Amino acid sequence: MYCVKCGKEYEGQFCPHCGQAAPAKRYCPGCGAEITDPNITECPGCGGFVP
Ligand SMILES: [Zn+2]
Ligand SMILES: [Zn+2]
Repeated sequence: MYCVKCGKEYEGQFCPHCGQAAPAKRYCPGCGAEITDPNITECPGCGGFVP
């Protein structure tokens, strides 16, 4: 994923570059797909609204 604060790519719960915590994972209420992009509100799988 990419850090929401500094934009660098990393894996894990915290960005090793700036210490920003990873955003909580969201799941589409329609199809259950994991939403990896914190900025989108439309499911890439089914097109449903993701709050
Ligand atoms: Zn960062
Ligand atoms: Zn969906």
